[in-house]
Amino acid sequence: MEEENSPATAIAPREPPKIQRLEESVVNRIAAGEVIQRPVSAVKELVENSLDADSSSISVVVKDGGLKLIQVSDDGHGIRREDLPILCERHTTSKLTKYEDLFSLSSMGFRGEALASMTYVAHVTVTTITKGQIHGYRVSYRDGVMEHEPKACAAVKGTQIMVENLFYNMTARRKTLQNSADDYGKIVDLLSRMAIHHNNVSFSCRKHGAVKADVHSVMSPSRLDSIRSVYGVSVAKNLMKVEVSSCDPSGCTFDMEGFISNSNYVSKKTILVLFINDRLVECSALKRAIEIVYAATLPKASKPFVYMSINLPREHVDINIHPTKKEVSLLNQEIIIEMIQSEVEVKLRNANDTRTFQEQKVEYIQSTLTSPRSDSTVSPKPSGQKAQKVPVNKMVRTDSSDPAGRLHAFLQPKPHNLPDKVSSLSVVRSSVRQRRNPKETADLSSVQELIAGVDSCCHPGLLETVRNCTYVGMADDVFALVQYNTHLYLANVVNLSKELMYQQTLRRFAHFNAIQLSDPAPLSELILLALKEEDLDPETDKNDDLKERIAEMNTELLKEKAEMLEEYFSVYIDSDGNLSRLPVILDQYTPDMDRVPEFLLCLGNDVEWEDEKSCFQGVSAAIGNFYAMYPPLLPNPSGDGIQFYTKRGESSQEKSDLDGNVEMEDNLDKDLLSDAENAWAQREWSIQHVLFPSMRLFLKPPASMASNGTFVKVASLEKLYKIFERC
Ligand code: ADP
Ligand code: MG
Repeated sequence: MEEENSPATAIAPREPPKIQRLEESVVNRIAAGEVIQRPVSAVKELVENSLDADSSSISVVVKDGGLKLIQVSDDGHGIRREDLPILCERHTTSKLTKYEDLFSLSSMGFRGEALASMTYVAHVTVTTITKGQIHGYRVSYRDGVMEHEPKACAAVKGTQIMVENLFYNMTARRKTLQNSADDYGKIVDLLSRMAIHHNNVSFSCRKHGAVKADVHSVMSPSRLDSIRSVYGVSVAKNLMKVEVSSCDPSGCTFDMEGFISNSNYVSKKTILVLFINDRLVECSALKRAIEIVYAATLPKASKPFVYMSINLPREHVDINIHPTKKEVSLLNQEIIIEMIQSEVEVKLRNANDTRTFQEQKVEYIQSTLTSPRSDSTVSPKPSGQKAQKVPVNKMVRTDSSDPAGRLHAFLQPKPHNLPDKVSSLSVVRSSVRQRRNPKETADLSSVQELIAGVDSCCHPGLLETVRNCTYVGMADDVFALVQYNTHLYLANVVNLSKELMYQQTLRRFAHFNAIQLSDPAPLSELILLALKEEDLDPETDKNDDLKERIAEMNTELLKEKAEMLEEYFSVYIDSDGNLSRLPVILDQYTPDMDRVPEFLLCLGNDVEWEDEKSCFQGVSAAIGNFYAMYPPLLPNPSGDGIQFYTKRGESSQEKSDLDGNVEMEDNLDKDLLSDAENAWAQREWSIQHVLFPSMRLFLKPPASMASNGTFVKVASLEKLYKIFERC
């Protein structure tokens, strides 16, 4: 019975195939295809070789996305005549002689595979000259060996390597690459990144036949200058320097320096140029960590530009990685990332204080163009302080595309220090007050008061815990297990997320990005739905009329408040009474849309609209409650909840009676089950990757959380040790 169904027996039995040794050239070609995956990987290897050869100028020419020609010329030390015969054999290198050398290596290459690989999948020609020679040599290679003796030729200092007809013998690879044809862009991107890190080398990259280079950097002692020449003024002028270092003898030793974009920089895509021990690498964990800080700290929530160079003791990075593996892993990665993340946050916050300041003053200045700077609040700091002095010629708006322009020159960054900040804000506000309509001024202060309220209720001990805890996993549908020092806690993710969302709503007040709903949702129907759900006795429809009236009234009320809801909370209700937009409270997180009805009802019923402060508090609380990470409505299928997904139809009932448990699987409502599985998996992902990281950064836990069961200590290692000691 079983055998008949097995696919293996459907084919007639056959003799085992004979095992053969592959021809060496085939083996090499396969290996080469792994090392050189696409044109940009060849460029990277060649440029790294040039850097290893102490070049100070490297130029790249590319034809046909690199498939026709890649030519890399440098002015490095060149290659000796006698080394040319073995140059392109596999595992020939000048950089490593014994295994131990791996740990003291400072070159990029060491495996001696790159050039060899290229000769198996392309035609490689090398022209090179070493110091003191009157002529150079040119020689071509195929499959690892020279095609002819090196020929004497005229040459300028250094080496030029030409790779032609890449993948000429790998038809499938060539086809896929030809179709995509975007490698030139990748090559430009690669060289741009290389150029800003190796600012003591000049780089250029152009298409074959083009006069103008697409990357052109000049040697410069200033990193910022090289960023400017490669990525442009608009990037360079909006960067701030960051530095972190740690020298912890217990293992976490590193230093990082770099540049990060400030709040004036706007981009849809993150650019993270990351070098670890001078190698260009990728690290998605670090990228996410930085993105989270930007998303939550800056009102515009622009994606950042970041250049970072991290140096670690060599033994902390596994350098014997596969040549194509760009993603790295480091010892103590989490601690390092956290330290970098908090430094970036501090920088942004400080800059942000300045910015709030700046925006308001811009308005002030623009509205008083006729009476230039007579107010003391806008005069630059007295000289002698560390702050930069501002040349008079910069005290004007010089950049029309950026209305804030050079005005930051008036403003000196302040350390993040609350009392000072409040007082300076109030100075500005009072100066602005006369020129803005009174309502708006009041708006600002009521929100500031609410935020101050959050700060003053914060429980210092819990703050410590929240900042430093590690997420272990979900203990059940509501409680997560977290570790802090030697303690293990159960933490109520619903309470925590609700509070965090509330606080973030206040902090991002009037500065939200929007989530566009694919279908606008009719308010009155949704509110009606919520009212019906609330009803304990849904059978009786005698109240239906009443419910409809309530729904209508609430809809009208919300339509009336639509302008305010949109401007301050990015909750958009159109004139037909449809909800079509919601705010982004935490990046990468969308609320559970099943809870929209309850949210609308809560807005309509629970918000006190008359008093401004209570109104903002009420709306923020409603949003907080809506965005909180409640368990999904569908029961959790990984526990007893699975019963919910059993079909109750009669036929399936009969079947399961006959066959017992064997048919259990067929009885499940697969679609519903997979919806539920998705919803639960999505929530758990959000808890781990959005809630906890953001909470560590932003949550100010109120004192009430210490006693209301949000945190429950379940074990303490010290006590456990004591118990063991006694036995
Ligand atoms: P690896 O870089 O791992 O040593 P490669 O195959 O990339 O292996 O290069 C082999 C050797 O060729 C290098 O060790 C180096 O001595 C020499 N070489 C390659 N490119 C250059 C260059 N542009 N200038 C000088 N020497 C080079
Ligand atoms: Mg190399």
